[in-house]
Amino acid sequence: MPTSLTCVKTGQHQVAMTQVPYPDEPGPCQALVRTTLATVCGSDMHIVDESPQLVGVPMGHEAVGVVAAVGAGVTAFKPGDRVAASCLVCCGYCDRCMEGNHSVCQTFASPANLLFGGQGEYFMVNGAQTSLARIPDGLDDDQVLFVTDIMSTGFAAIERAELRMGDTVAVFAQGPVGLCATAGARTFGAGLVIAVEGIPERQAMAKRLGADIVLDPAEAVTKIMEITNGRGVDVAVEALGNPATFTSACAVTRFGGTVSSVGVYSAFPELPLATTGTFIHRKLVTTLCPVGTDRLGRLMALIGSGRVDLRPLITHSMKISETPAAYDLFRSKKEGVLKIALRP
Ligand SMILES: [Zn+2]
Ligand SMILES: [Zn+2]
Repeated sequence: MPTSLTCVKTGQHQVAMTQVPYPDEPGPCQALVRTTLATVCGSDMHIVDESPQLVGVPMGHEAVGVVAAVGAGVTAFKPGDRVAASCLVCCGYCDRCMEGNHSVCQTFASPANLLFGGQGEYFMVNGAQTSLARIPDGLDDDQVLFVTDIMSTGFAAIERAELRMGDTVAVFAQGPVGLCATAGARTFGAGLVIAVEGIPERQAMAKRLGADIVLDPAEAVTKIMEITNGRGVDVAVEALGNPATFTSACAVTRFGGTVSSVGVYSAFPELPLATTGTFIHRKLVTTLCPVGTDRLGRLMALIGSGRVDLRPLITHSMKISETPAAYDLFRSKKEGVLKIALRP
């Protein structure tokens, strides 16, 4: 049985490079992909730190590569194809997939819907026919890596808020997903884009990717209300997964506006809806990363046109075999780290 040197969750708060066996041939609807570029994500930290039931799983759900082999039923892809993989796999035929909500596919229920093993030499993709997307010629791996998760999530925070052109947007937290939401707000035609962030490197990156104003979290609510003449913003995005940040996002959203939450709150049992006295006539929308062949293709079309370039988010580069060290660096938020490219 072939093996892949892959980052595996070996215990709570613990990962290590381990030889993971793979079947000789992919099963029905599966594809085996040779990794050419992967990365570490905040969700990896949630899995490693908070999910005891996932000890033993191969880590990594943001990866691109080259198809090595396909199983029965996979007709859209063949060995040698360069592909981006959805971070959440989907079947394409269940009720949720048929209505376009591939990230909540019923065939691959959580946690089986997560792509596993991207931080390895090879990874197996379930539902490959609808979960992979061919990378257009002329686009390199670094350009498209983030369509697998954070670009799709960050842009969806704006799309699902039904942002209208000219809207004022506040994006709370400029980590990788928040920065993608900032870039998404700019792409979708926001008027004023206000980013909220305390780390200097992230503040600078927010400006680079489309923020007009960057505010420190401690002063954000007061300043945003001043800037909007007491009205509040049309759309407030929460991209941290913290109850206090969620409260701030609610507090600055105008009547008729939308709070768009993409943070992962798994470390917190409750989410308070404490506001400035009332929370009437506002919309609250949460989003799980949209995925699937069509979705990834659309994001790559935006990148191919030159309208979006998220390569500045890659602040560090390491070998896939050094993935455990990448976890430490990512978790530390030091050295200006945003996304770490993991290469063979
Ligand atoms: Zn991710
Ligand atoms: Zn499905």
